[in-house]
Amino acid sequence: MEKGGKVRLLEWQGREIFAREGIPVPEGDVVTSPAAARALSARLGRPVVLKAQVPVGGRGKAGGIRLAPSPAEAEEAARALLGSTLKGFPVAKVLVVEAVEPKAEHYLSLLLDRSARMPLFLYSPKGGVDIEEVAWESPELVSKVHVPPLEGPATFRLRRLFSLAPKELLPGLIDVAKKLWHVFVHYEAQLVEINPVAEVAGKLLALDAKVILDDDHSPGPQFAGLSEEAADALEGEARRAGMSYVRLDGDIGILGNGAGLVMATLDLVVRAGGRPANFLDIGGGARAERVKTGVELILRDGRAKVLFVNVFGGITRCDEVARGVAEALAGKGLPVVIRLVGTNEEEGRRILAAAGFVPVRTMEEGAARAVALAKEGACAH
Ligand code: GDP
Ligand code: MN
Repeated sequence: MEKGGKVRLLEWQGREIFAREGIPVPEGDVVTSPAAARALSARLGRPVVLKAQVPVGGRGKAGGIRLAPSPAEAEEAARALLGSTLKGFPVAKVLVVEAVEPKAEHYLSLLLDRSARMPLFLYSPKGGVDIEEVAWESPELVSKVHVPPLEGPATFRLRRLFSLAPKELLPGLIDVAKKLWHVFVHYEAQLVEINPVAEVAGKLLALDAKVILDDDHSPGPQFAGLSEEAADALEGEARRAGMSYVRLDGDIGILGNGAGLVMATLDLVVRAGGRPANFLDIGGGARAERVKTGVELILRDGRAKVLFVNVFGGITRCDEVARGVAEALAGKGLPVVIRLVGTNEEEGRRILAAAGFVPVRTMEEGAARAVALAKEGACAH
């Protein structure tokens, strides 16, 4: 890109930055496959909104935002969006977030006003639509406040900015604005915009995230984990090894064979009060080597406090699974819960016992134990 140009981050990247800085965002994650959309929607356990990740606004009107009440509908919507083009951009990723019913939508942004050579906050209680349109049709509904960069967003200035806002939202809006300022400075942005800031059950939620950086912003550790490659590395590696891996946002690693069984395992874990860190399907007939690679992917992801292995042996042999799990976990200290039934079960149990692991008998028992171990792990930190 040429010097002096700008980089518009995708919504999922902006949202990730907002979340890190403590700006409330709806629960969810970005996915690259219909199966992942389905798994995530099942995990969230309520209607979701699927949003095509392209670097332009107005996606709603262009058909890039879909509501899906069930996991099956989320899968279908993701299939329709992924690989299509929206406003000339190919859709490679879809953001899946919990659907909310906003009472109202507001507009908030912070940008570099080049003529005043000062950052400028813009606010409107009429959000969710194009701000240029609001400014044109009802300029009295847009307020603007400059912020001297060395002084920062003093509360008295923000009160002036939000003079058009409902009084009860003032503390929440001021808090979001201060955090947005921090994003602006910390990430060397030209523009940060939340449109809409949704009012949901008396609280504020950033339903959209637009972040534009100078393309010559200094690289720094604040950008870790935001690149396309980072988000895809584990998924791509699993695919090349013949497995399917989906990153979720909890702390219980899940490994199983067959999409149906893995999905059922996720459901049980969620019902037992736990949060899956991932969805890993080792596929059919996996040998020890592939199982080991699968466990290692979960270890490398780093967020699992416990691993729940649920395998139903058919073409897949329990002894191969046991060997792969035992080898991958040797000396790692990650607690594991294993349910292993079917082909070569006895040999599998023997291998596990030799490695110091005792399998559970049922999926329900396994889910309950995994959830308990994850909670213990959380307390130990
Ligand atoms: P944009 O059109 O590209 O700017 O995409 P946005 O993320 O701003 O979404 C457009 C509109 O979709 C928002 O202004 C909302 O009205 C609506 N929307 C997005 N997420 C949700 C949601 O979870 N629930 C509801 N009811 N509407 C949503
Ligand atoms: Mn928007």
